[in-house]
Amino acid sequence: MGKKGIFDVVVVGAGPAGAMAAKTAAENGLDVLLIERRTQIGIPVQCAEGTSEEGLRILKDVLGEEIDPHWIAKQIEGVEIITPDRTIVTVEGKGYILERRILDRDLAIRAVRAGAEIVKGKAVGLVRDKEADCMVVNVVSSEQNYFFPAKIVIGADGPESKIGEWAGIDTKLNLSDKIIGKQYLIYSPELEGLDRVRCFLGDRVAPGGGYAWIFPKGKNGTANVGIGMFKNKLKEYGIPVPDYFLDVFIARVFSKYQIIEKTAGKIPGAPPSDTIADNVVLAGDAAGFVNPITGGGLRTGMESGKIAAEVAVAAISKGDTSKQGLADYKRRISLAFGKDNEQLLIMRRFSQTLKDEDYDDLGHFLQGMHLSSETSSVTLIRKLLFSNPGITARFAAFKVKNKL
Ligand SMILES: Cc1cc2nc3c(=O)[nH]c(=O)nc-3n(C[C@H](O)[C@H](O)[C@H](O)COP(=O)(O)OP(=O)(O)OC[C@H]3O[C@@H](n4cnc5c(N)ncnc54)[C@H](O)[C@@H]3O)c2cc1C
Repeated sequence: MGKKGIFDVVVVGAGPAGAMAAKTAAENGLDVLLIERRTQIGIPVQCAEGTSEEGLRILKDVLGEEIDPHWIAKQIEGVEIITPDRTIVTVEGKGYILERRILDRDLAIRAVRAGAEIVKGKAVGLVRDKEADCMVVNVVSSEQNYFFPAKIVIGADGPESKIGEWAGIDTKLNLSDKIIGKQYLIYSPELEGLDRVRCFLGDRVAPGGGYAWIFPKGKNGTANVGIGMFKNKLKEYGIPVPDYFLDVFIARVFSKYQIIEKTAGKIPGAPPSDTIADNVVLAGDAAGFVNPITGGGLRTGMESGKIAAEVAVAAISKGDTSKQGLADYKRRISLAFGKDNEQLLIMRRFSQTLKDEDYDDLGHFLQGMHLSSETSSVTLIRKLLFSNPGITARFAAFKVKNKL
């Protein structure tokens, strides 16, 4: 803790975003506290653990060190997108299935090694102490109440951030932007030898623009098999959770399998109303920083955590931790991935209006093309949308209607 009993930075949430924020702030000489409510960091794993080669390169750059082989469960050779009529579109290129339970813990260890203190407990409130000109994070741990004052609080507490809400940001997502993910780690002999990720589209699999995935993990016939569905669709079906769709999907695809683990989690399909407030910065899922199409948020979580800490360092050294003093955060996020995410969000919202026939048409168009993971997701989706004159016209009308 700092000289006046105030931390420079308190980070709430020791996921990849929070750990990177704490590590970076501590490396820059700040007094940092990292708060995590889970007893075991990274567990349960709420992630399909996939990343592209580009994603892994960014991860390495953000961390400033080589990738530890223990963080990688399996290298994959490409992605197969399967449309409702079973057309297979193949995107060639390396990717990786990670071991988040090891990676997340190692990132938190790096934060502590850099000098951050860690407290296991749940943040239950955030108030402003006007006199001391700081924020105070209220934490409950082992039934005890603690109050941690901080010049800057970094909210890395996941989707629909409470830290953001307590700082006055509207963090509630529309149901049509809220993705509910459900996933099983399964074993099936039919998975042995699979070295591509498979994504399944269409109303029979995940109605309303969702998708199901098979991410092969390890050499031993295991895979993360999951489904992501928009909350509005689940409500329409009167089914509160996507378990039903996942069970139907697995039973259709595999004739023999065993479920080893089950997990579930929310994916923010869009950012909240803001990502900064006076003395507060949101990072990772708390700031809605996931790829709006794939739902991948590991890379952007780590990048935003690092940027949040660097902006906090600059604001503290200038002595201006107000919202205005933190405004550089938005500029830097926009440059790093924010602009791409804005475009992908428009395309994703449009994709939620597509029908099975549209996916099939797009699949037929792309089937013969050489696609590689080097094509950026924005370019790939553009190719898709502009491949079919009917869909191009509907996309244009969608943008006009939604004033985009
Ligand atoms: C089913 C599913 C599949 C996914 N698949 C992929 C994928 O394949 N690839 C990919 O890149 N991304 C994927 N994602 C997204 C990815 O997991 C997240 O984007 C990433 O974990 C974000 O990191 P984070 O640090 O922002 O948040 P988190 O990893 O969610 O960490 C938030 C932390 O904050 C803690 N916390 C929350 N509230 C409090 C509180 N009040 N007090 C103290 N601690 C608190 C939590 O316990 C948690 O440890 C998937 C997500 C889901 C749900």
